[in-house]
Amino acid sequence: MAVLKLLRAPLKYVQGKDALLKFYDETKELGNSFLFICSNSGYKNCFDKLKKSFEGTDCKMRFEIFGGTSSNGEIEKMRNIVIEDNIEVVVGVGGGSAIDTAKATAYYEKCPVVVIPTVCATDAPCTGLSVIYNDDGTFNSYLFYPRNPEVVIVDTQVIASAPVKFLVAGMGDALGTYFEARACVRTDAPSLENGGISLSAMALCKLCYETLIKCGYQAKLACENELITPALESIVEATTYLSGVGADNGGLAVAHSVYNGFTALPECEYTMHGFLVAFGTIAQLVLENVSKEEIKEVMDFCYSIGLPVTLKELGITDIKRVRIAAEKACIQGETIHNMAGDVTQDQLYHALLAVDLLGKEYLNNNKNQ
Ligand SMILES: [Zn+2]
Repeated sequence: MAVLKLLRAPLKYVQGKDALLKFYDETKELGNSFLFICSNSGYKNCFDKLKKSFEGTDCKMRFEIFGGTSSNGEIEKMRNIVIEDNIEVVVGVGGGSAIDTAKATAYYEKCPVVVIPTVCATDAPCTGLSVIYNDDGTFNSYLFYPRNPEVVIVDTQVIASAPVKFLVAGMGDALGTYFEARACVRTDAPSLENGGISLSAMALCKLCYETLIKCGYQAKLACENELITPALESIVEATTYLSGVGADNGGLAVAHSVYNGFTALPECEYTMHGFLVAFGTIAQLVLENVSKEEIKEVMDFCYSIGLPVTLKELGITDIKRVRIAAEKACIQGETIHNMAGDVTQDQLYHALLAVDLLGKEYLNNNKNQ
């Protein structure tokens, strides 16, 4: 039997300036007692608005600042709070880790989960999975859920006041979405949710890419200056909803394997996810031998918003070490094997160095202009 097409998404997505003032209105049907699992900055930036949205209700709100890593220890702690306090709704407030902790807590305690992303750096808000770490911060596993979050609420004011590097990284992560899904469609590879890729999913991925090209640069400028413009609104939607739902239902290929590969190198420890995914996207285009125009459009985009196009910008000075990353990117089970004709370690190594050459040339040409 052929793989069945599948499309999954959050039940409700709400976005806009001061959206958090409507938090209670948008979630009140889910329950009466809420546990907010917050990152430090998430708490600082959202508490006042959340409190205000509950004015005049008799709902219970409990705020917890979490330890910073979505580890089993942290999840255990939050589960105990849910039980002790009879919590009915779990809310994640922050970046990827706070959100992943909230999703896992809600899943184990069979509660609905609401997500409030305070940065647009990853696909965590809308997807139906979490990345779980050990208590010492090393990778443990992916946890796949039967559902996506009940509600995702993005307050554009909160996003605009966060450092711009998060938005740029989010655009890097979103850059892979269309090309990775396109590669999966060619080989009938399954999506992250292990379903066939629908026309609707593909349309979201394509719109994600088109929005990045159209609005990326303007949105970066706006965010740097804490301005909320239609371009910033579009990019927040592209990086949070289109990229998240697109990747979940469209599948991954080279770009995310390249990310996993580079995490093997200590010199990339502090390089953000989206930076590595963007570089991996160009490597995928090199492997696919796409047109000069397509590569140029992607490199122009990366350069315009400050995404890396050379290994040096990723923190790598000894190019021989790229072999270690290429090896890890090609281990069994990696999404790079969704590519037509597959990709060997050696081919990937050559492609990564080829991107570096193209990038250096690109930077040189732009310096001389
Ligand atoms: Zn990603």
